[in-house]
Amino acid sequence: MSTPFERLAAVRPERRIYLDLDDVLAETTRQIVPLLNARFEREVCFDELRDFDLGIAFELTDTEREHAMDAVHDELFLRELPLREGVLEVLREWDQSGYHLAVITGRPPDTHGVSLEWLADQGVPHHTFVCVDKYGRHGEFENRVPLDQLRALSFEIALEDSPEMALFLTRHSHGHIFLMDRPWNREHDLLRRVDTPRMIRIHEWSEITAHLRSMTRSR
Ligand SMILES: [Mg+2]
Repeated sequence: MSTPFERLAAVRPERRIYLDLDDVLAETTRQIVPLLNARFEREVCFDELRDFDLGIAFELTDTEREHAMDAVHDELFLRELPLREGVLEVLREWDQSGYHLAVITGRPPDTHGVSLEWLADQGVPHHTFVCVDKYGRHGEFENRVPLDQLRALSFEIALEDSPEMALFLTRHSHGHIFLMDRPWNREHDLLRRVDTPRMIRIHEWSEITAHLRSMTRSR
C-alpha cells in the first residue's frame, strides 16, 4: 500500500494544492497565547509574536519550552482549535474543480490521528495529510518525512504562514504562494530575500479567490 506522500507525488503538479494546518486552516496561535500566558505567568500579546519561535516571545527556558511544546500538541487542545473563517468556501470550490488538496503540517507524526479527526469534524475537504519535518524536530519518529522529500514536489497553489517554509516554497515549487499575514512573518529577514510576484501576502481566506481571478484574467 502506498503512503500518503507517495499518493501526493503521483498527482500532476498543476493539480496539487499545499495547505499548511496551523495558522492557515486552524486559528492556532491565538489559542496558544492565553494557554502559555496562564501556564508561565506571562502577559504576551499575539501581535508581539515577531518570531516564529514562541520560546523567544515568551522568554522560555529549554525545560519550559519542552513543556510548552507538549501543551500545544496536547490532543484536547488540538481538538478544540477553531477553523479559520472562509476556509470551507475556498476549499470546496477547489475540490469541485478537481484539485488535490494536501494538508502538509509540521506537527509531529504522533498528532496524526487527532489532526485527521479535527479535519473531519470541521468538514475540511482534503485528499492527503502528511506530517513533514519542516523544522527538524521529528528526529525520534520512525515514520518521519524529511523536508528534503518535499523539494521534489511542485504545487500550483501553496498556503503557509512560516517564513522559512514560504522561502522554501518559492525555491522548490513553481506555483503561487499565499503567505498568511501573521506578526512573525511581517518583518522577517528571510522574506526580504524573496523577490517574486508569485508570493502574495493575504490577511483572510476571502482574498484568495479575488487574487486568483485577477491572475487568470492577466494571463
Ligand atoms: Mg503554520
